[in-house]
Amino acid sequence: MPAPYPPLESVSRILLGPGPSPVPASVLSALGRPTVGHLDPFFLGVMDELRDMLRAVFQTQNTLTLAISGTGSAGMEATLANLLEPGDRALIGVNGVFGGRMLEIARRLGAEVTQVQAEWGRPLEVEPCRSAAQGRPFKVVCVVHAETSTGVLQPLEPFKELADELGALLVVDAVTSLGGMPVEVDRLGLDAVYSGTQKCLSCPPGLSPVTFSERASRAISARRTPVVSWYLDLSLVQRYWGSERVYHHTAPINMLFALHEALRLVLQEGLDARFARHRLHHAALSAGLGELGLGLPVAAQFRLPSLTVVEIPDGTDDVKARRHLLHEFGLEIGGGLGPMQGRAWRIGLMGEGASRRNVELCLAALTSALRAQGYRAGDDALAAARATYS
Ligand code: PLP
Repeated sequence: MPAPYPPLESVSRILLGPGPSPVPASVLSALGRPTVGHLDPFFLGVMDELRDMLRAVFQTQNTLTLAISGTGSAGMEATLANLLEPGDRALIGVNGVFGGRMLEIARRLGAEVTQVQAEWGRPLEVEPCRSAAQGRPFKVVCVVHAETSTGVLQPLEPFKELADELGALLVVDAVTSLGGMPVEVDRLGLDAVYSGTQKCLSCPPGLSPVTFSERASRAISARRTPVVSWYLDLSLVQRYWGSERVYHHTAPINMLFALHEALRLVLQEGLDARFARHRLHHAALSAGLGELGLGLPVAAQFRLPSLTVVEIPDGTDDVKARRHLLHEFGLEIGGGLGPMQGRAWRIGLMGEGASRRNVELCLAALTSALRAQGYRAGDDALAAARATYS
């Protein structure tokens, strides 16, 4: 009898959206290594190296540094669920989708939440947060370092100062920044930081690197109530990642092999070189988009190197244009989220994706997609990008 389902065909895309990002061949082949047991001595050695490499990428010495089994949202949930208890005060900045997600999680945890909104496309200002705090003590102050929904970079230093004033721990979402720009955990004194594998680390989605300062670890140890999520309870997870090696859940072995290879590549390239590469290709892309006459709504100093938000010109249909990119060029970019839906595209140059070839392909493909809808795109976008490289 023929098998009811044929094997999956292999579809290859150039991933220049808001994530996942392109995955290097060696990372994909690490996924295909033979699976070993989660307590196999070989695997425990892999975990030790992973922890060291995560510390290097987070630029920290934090003991409590590991990869949560789950995507970036699992890291967000683990961070908040371990730090917050019912009634704890949380000050949360919201200037896009992911600040809103932190807010939702904190509320579900029973925290007393103070929300401070900023306009989408702009960073949060610290003064409105200070006013909203009204001098009361807070358990956490939460901000998104790289808001993937808007392409905005959040300066962290003023929020560290505010957190100190309020006696709070500073929680930072670094899902779209880690591996693409500095996330200086120790230098800036960030207390709890989570990320995801599928952005600037160029690993498939599925794991969430997290790190906690000694102060944050003490706050977890001093909890009055158990963490509501058994699976994400870091005091239990840490007993597996730490020297005790107590079984908690069966680690996603092959994903961790892939992360090991992805981090190895990040460190082999060198953090500074990698950050400079992201900045260079972002500058070239921005120059080309400008030459196409497309608006970049985020002020230049707050633009993320890893994710560029660009306005869709009047008269151009978002979905039709993205379909053109996918069908004619095999290229994926992201649509706008929330109020930006249908009005903006999100172009990611993340990790392996940040390359001259991708910038030039993206500009050529966008020119074609825009012209197909009658937009009068000039011929100089590529030249503008190339001028950046020369
Ligand atoms: N935080 C930010 C800034 C993100 O961009 C994302 C995903 O895009 C998340 C959190 C959630 O991560 P995931 O979709 O991997 O669960």
